[in-house]
Amino acid sequence: MANGVSGRLYVVATPIGNLGDLGGRAREVLSSCALVAAEDTRHSGALLRHLGLSTPLLSVHEHNERQRAPELVERMRNGADVALVSDAGTPAISDPGFDLVCAAVAAGIEVIAVPGPCAAIAALSVAALPTARFAFEGFLPPRGAARRRRLEGLAAEERTLVFYESPHRVREMLDDCAAIFGSVRRAAAARELTKLHEKVYRGTLAELQACAAADADFCRGEIVVLIDGAPPAAADANRDLDRVLAELLAELPLAQAVRLAARVTGARANDAYRRALELQRESLSQ
Ligand code: SAM
Repeated sequence: MANGVSGRLYVVATPIGNLGDLGGRAREVLSSCALVAAEDTRHSGALLRHLGLSTPLLSVHEHNERQRAPELVERMRNGADVALVSDAGTPAISDPGFDLVCAAVAAGIEVIAVPGPCAAIAALSVAALPTARFAFEGFLPPRGAARRRRLEGLAAEERTLVFYESPHRVREMLDDCAAIFGSVRRAAAARELTKLHEKVYRGTLAELQACAAADADFCRGEIVVLIDGAPPAAADANRDLDRVLAELLAELPLAQAVRLAARVTGARANDAYRRALELQRESLSQ
């Protein structure tokens, strides 16, 4: 396309395990593009070889994406079509790609989705949890305290929650979820989707904790954890607590505001204290 017409950026989803899931259009685009921008050129090189393709590859990963973006934008401006792929699934979804997409859009380059596998959506489609509204949370912070803070902030979320998690941390994560959301909250864990040892665990958080303890395979391979949303009443109670705390914090010292808010709303003092700190942090960061 070296005729003065700008090239395009194709954002191409690739399989999350089963190579048979690569769509015909993805194959076509990977074959016709001038260049494949890949998170890991060795990994994507193997995929291209499997498809019988020899399209040149350029590495674009989380540490060089920003620096590489101008060079790739220039090549597209000069007419080259570029395909962006990550190691597995959909680029820019807990994977590199966001910066390049933004740079291309800012430069007026057409960005085209070539949709396909995405572990979050695949897991949601088989979890038997409500799908009408969901919140994709990606990876939780790896450290315990930060992870618990993030989960506490989600305790009243009514939409189905979807998390990516490392197999090494999934037991701790389930323990924290059970402690914060309650052990009877429904959940699912989808591991090794589309692969040989694919398995979906469904049950309460307590039942999933028991599976994780009893089944060594639970903590092997790749996993998506999904958690049912909070019942509306919990959401209402938390909203009440927030409203009362916000009013009291504007007038009173923290300890007094927390004591009164807990008394008025019936919330536990610890929950009111934690939420008061979060509200203070949020107002400072605004
Ligand atoms: N961009 C990818 C996508 O669209 O799904 C996600 C990449 S993220 C770095 C990798 C995480 O996705 C894994 O840690 C796991 O949580 C999830 N994942 C990827 N493949 C999976 C599979 N076959 N089964 C279950 N979870 C998977």
